Amino acid sequence: MNFDDYRGVWVFSEVKDGGIAPVSLELLGAARQLADKRKTHVAGVLIGEEVKHLADTLFAYGADTVYVYDAPIFRHYRTETFMQAMLHCTNKHKPEILLYGATSTGKDLASAVATDLPTGLTADTTILDVEEDTGLLLASRPAFGGNIMATILCKKYRPQMATVRPKVMKALPPDPQRTGEIVEESIDLKEEDVRTKVLEIVRATVKKVRIDEADIIVAGGKGLGSPEGFGLIHRLAQTIGAAVGASRDVVEAGWIEHHHQVGQTGVTVTPKIYFAIGISGAIQHIVGMQNSGLIVAINKDPAAPIFQSSHYGIVGDAFEIVPMLIERFKSEPV
Ligand code: FAD
Repeated sequence: MNFDDYRGVWVFSEVKDGGIAPVSLELLGAARQLADKRKTHVAGVLIGEEVKHLADTLFAYGADTVYVYDAPIFRHYRTETFMQAMLHCTNKHKPEILLYGATSTGKDLASAVATDLPTGLTADTTILDVEEDTGLLLASRPAFGGNIMATILCKKYRPQMATVRPKVMKALPPDPQRTGEIVEESIDLKEEDVRTKVLEIVRATVKKVRIDEADIIVAGGKGLGSPEGFGLIHRLAQTIGAAVGASRDVVEAGWIEHHHQVGQTGVTVTPKIYFAIGISGAIQHIVGMQNSGLIVAINKDPAAPIFQSSHYGIVGDAFEIVPMLIERFKSEPV
């Protein structure tokens, strides 16, 4: 394998609800930094039906080149079709680095592509850097239960691939004047050759709380004692129009669904305000909320580790303090 054949930092540009998924825009910002260090280009790979116009968004956020696979066969995400397009593009244009958002689509696609390419994949990366002279990607992620950060290298193969969690990288401010090169590609794939068919898409009927997009999160932990006690978290959240977050122990106890879980094995969040109530502050929780704008902790144990990661700490019983906060916020809305 001749490493000199592999150039550029690429981002799989996921299409969501007719636009580019926010994580892909964040990754273009990260890709731009890596590419500038390597003095190379940034490219987006855009796969879908009637998606070519979205290339402008990718240019605005930092791409120099966009490879487009635009055909009815790509109308819905299917592992098989998207994987074939990615393999075709990667084998033909040979990127040095290839990044995917760690969404359900990105994780599925990256791992499928990694089974075919003779290379590795670092999953759930939170820090990216590159060695200027060798082009070696330094992909770091929490390991051993979050107690250490492991930096994973792929020294012998190209491309180097990583999935990156949403909300950890920063998108560049968009520049609508930026333009780039569109490279239209296609693959010879017939619908009858694809083993999976999308018959219907059924949207979840339960209104899912998007904690990863909320400005304010009220998160509760095991200190609330019971599902009824956890109701206090819902009441405070409702009063101030916040989303509800939770520690893993609360999710495992079945007090709330997993998509509310904040932390290493949950969602990474960066709200403007994060309330951590009855949460001890284990490292696995902290890594998911430490970049919040303002962190307010309420815990009856003055030695609880959560206070070390908080801007404001209230030492006391949640069952006394939270009702007071609710009353106060009702009379003086935030
Ligand atoms: P506890 O640790 O039991 O803390 C309860 C806190 O409430 C205590 O600090 C106590 O002082 C306080 N308290 C008690 N009563 C009151 C009261 N009346 N008023 C105020 N305070 C009170 N955890 C996550 O959250 N997210 C993850 O993604 C995650 N991933 C993990 C991945 C791995 C591989 C491992 C090993 C663990 C992971 N964990 C995760 C679990 C994590 O290590 C902790 O066990 C968990 O975060 C603890 O939850 P907690 O703070 O709600 O409960």
